[in-house]
Amino acid sequence: MAYDAHLHVDQYPPDRREALLAEAFAAGVDGVVAVSMHPASCEETRRLAAGWPGRVMPAYGHHPEQPPLGAAELARLCDRMRQLAADGEAFAVGEVGLPYYTRTEAEARGEPFDEAPYLAQLDAFARLAAELDRPIALHAVYEDADKALELMELHGVRRAHFHWYKGASETTARIAASGYFISVTPDVLYEPDIRELAAAFPIGQLMAETDGPWPFEGPFAGTETAPAMTRAVAREIAALRGLAPETVERELDGNTRAFYGFGR
Ligand SMILES: [Zn+2]
Repeated sequence: MAYDAHLHVDQYPPDRREALLAEAFAAGVDGVVAVSMHPASCEETRRLAAGWPGRVMPAYGHHPEQPPLGAAELARLCDRMRQLAADGEAFAVGEVGLPYYTRTEAEARGEPFDEAPYLAQLDAFARLAAELDRPIALHAVYEDADKALELMELHGVRRAHFHWYKGASETTARIAASGYFISVTPDVLYEPDIRELAAAFPIGQLMAETDGPWPFEGPFAGTETAPAMTRAVAREIAALRGLAPETVERELDGNTRAFYGFGR
């Protein structure tokens, strides 16, 4: 059993996408959450997910580390999701969030950065996730996680997932208290901060992901990132917490199934 709670299937080369999914499921992976980068990416994610009903949960959105959508494009994407929901399709909202890396890199160069349009875009996606009662996959790290958390609570989003979460201990405590979820990537095998987080965060709000095709280091250096790597994530979390690997695998799988609504 294994779920990959955050994967960019459409960011693999075109001739690897179908094979990557087929290989993952053949290797015993039960399901993946396939997030999207932008409107065209959403359509490719939807096409790929249609081949694996119940196993590939598509998520539709616009990644924050790129210029935000214009008002008309944003309205069109939100209306598309409303229509799919009305048609009874299962999907989540994502990947959406705030441009931590784009902003801090601009600030480091001494350039002004206007965060307002990004906050407005996330506000619209949070509103939509609450309206349609869909899970939302968030890219919001460090101080941006606090801003995103406020928007989620403001709109009454029921299921928010801070993917590859990193942040100050006060922010971590706020997310834990909110009942929202975070996920851990294969860097839990070698990143001290992530190891500390994975050892202590409430296990009932924890998931495993790869963010593939993002490449990892340590024992994964030079290896194509694949959903089955979430097994190593679960085993490492088990070792850090002094628990049996099967117990942690069962827990993380159950969390991802329930959070994203697999098998419903
Ligand atoms: Zn991602």
